[in-house]
Amino acid sequence: MTECEPTCTPMGRLEVGEEKSENPSLPPRQSTSVRFIDSIRKSFFVIGTSFVVLVAFRNSVTWHLQQCWGASGDFWQGQWGKIYDWFEGDEYRLTLIGTFVWTMTIFWTANILLIILDLTGKPEFLLRYKIQPEKNAPVEKKRLLSAIGRVLFNQTVIAGPVFIVLFHLMKLRGFSYGRELPTFQWVLFEMLVCVLMEEVGFYYSHRTVHHPLLYKRIHKLHHEWTAPIGIIGLYAHPLEHVMSNMMPPMLGPLIMGSHLSTMWLWFGIALLSTTNAHSGYHFPYFPSPEAHDFHHLKFNQNYGGVLGILDRLHGTDSLFRVTKQYERHIMCLTFNPPRQEIPDIVKNAKAKPE
Ligand SMILES: [Zn+2]
Ligand SMILES: [Zn+2]
Repeated sequence: MTECEPTCTPMGRLEVGEEKSENPSLPPRQSTSVRFIDSIRKSFFVIGTSFVVLVAFRNSVTWHLQQCWGASGDFWQGQWGKIYDWFEGDEYRLTLIGTFVWTMTIFWTANILLIILDLTGKPEFLLRYKIQPEKNAPVEKKRLLSAIGRVLFNQTVIAGPVFIVLFHLMKLRGFSYGRELPTFQWVLFEMLVCVLMEEVGFYYSHRTVHHPLLYKRIHKLHHEWTAPIGIIGLYAHPLEHVMSNMMPPMLGPLIMGSHLSTMWLWFGIALLSTTNAHSGYHFPYFPSPEAHDFHHLKFNQNYGGVLGILDRLHGTDSLFRVTKQYERHIMCLTFNPPRQEIPDIVKNAKAKPE
């Protein structure tokens, strides 16, 4: 019996509201209205369930969180106090120099480790987690150096003035630089707002630069890497760096009037998240980078960030959802490589040309 071709639908069934495609090799299409209602229904279900669970367990959850924070809270308060004193509480230098040093340290610490792996192939056992194993193995030095140069340019010449604008916007909004850190629960709540704002900001700004008028001039550069590596998260045209990489993460802190320390925490998480999404490795216990890696491979799928809510809502993940990459798109809770757990479908030898 002939084995399934790679274009087969793994689900093998049609859901209500889906239309049969005229071409059997393509995934079934859903009408826009049905897809929209389906997405709304699912969103309500997820949000509603989370709300009920949160209300039911609110007291005990809050108590446990406070216990965790209580144990390490003094430590973090001490660290922040040292930084605050070092800058003599100067809010301008804290925002500009502090944010610059913090973001550079986080980004390059993670990326130097990934660059060593991509250049040397060591430690070898990590290569099992490569998403596109045949690509960048090892990464071409000249290409890597050129990418590093552009990333550093974006992080200094382009980001510097943006941080100055951010400082003045935050002053207008009114936010705290105080010595005292916000409560753990409040930081968690602000993180949630930041993640949602990032998702919306990144999806629409990213989809905008995919417009044919802007793609060639701006976004094509980022897509030179069909198999990305960690630093490619910030490898972009300067305009895109401001619109897609810097502004969406700034929305949350600006809306909430976050404490500077909360903003640093969030920027750190956002930088590690984009590094992971572009790393080219699906490591165990890390959020799955399969969706954005697939975006670099196919260009017109998965415009959103980690959550993928807006891709689902707009149907811009329809092709992705019938691929092996989608089946692997979960956080791996074992040390088995996802490609080994869910292997690619190999074409039948008879089907190959002689
Ligand atoms: Zn990308
Ligand atoms: Zn893109």
